[in-house]
Amino acid sequence: KPDPRIEAIKARIQDFPDFPKPGILFRDIFPLFQHPSLCHDVVNVFYEHFVSKYPSTKVDAVLGLDARGFLFAPLLAEKFRANFVAVRKKGKLPGKVVSCDYTLEYGSAEVEIQNHAVSDGQNVIIVDDLLATGGTMNAACLLAKKLKLNIIQCQCVIALTGLNGEKKLPAGIDFYSIVQYE
Ligand code: AMP
Repeated sequence: KPDPRIEAIKARIQDFPDFPKPGILFRDIFPLFQHPSLCHDVVNVFYEHFVSKYPSTKVDAVLGLDARGFLFAPLLAEKFRANFVAVRKKGKLPGKVVSCDYTLEYGSAEVEIQNHAVSDGQNVIIVDDLLATGGTMNAACLLAKKLKLNIIQCQCVIALTGLNGEKKLPAGIDFYSIVQYE
């Protein structure tokens, strides 16, 4: 049966055609934050999905992707009593970092994690607002693999299924989204 929380989340996601450029239909999650209980619903849906699928897996860290993954990852980490770790765009994190570059529609980008924020063999969840082509989430997965982290699941509020982003993720990665658009 449909989860009324998911219906409510979907109802608040706002569409902006031709943003940030012509041809892109931007799915804006910020309206959720005008209804604070919906942010908790997002985090609770993520949490409950994970716990029902992996009831005995201890989560050590939740990795949030720059920038809108940061809105949910710390709240989710707190539920697991786990660490929140930022995966940031190049040049934002001080100290020793590990980097991974990836290609975008136009050009390329790089994501980074601070070495000291994670350790070998930790169980992690990676969180972002939206999966489109999968390039960003894939880069985060490769970064996590470089650091020998054990990726249990990747979670996004939204997946644009028509872009087949899930297929771009490393083989065997478990991906979950709350709301899907074709
Ligand atoms: P991708 O790497 O193609 O999977 O793009 C995912 C990243 O770009 C996420 O961090 C999203 O925040 C952002 N993004 C891509 N497409 C959209 C869209 N249609 N609406 C909102 N955000 C998007």
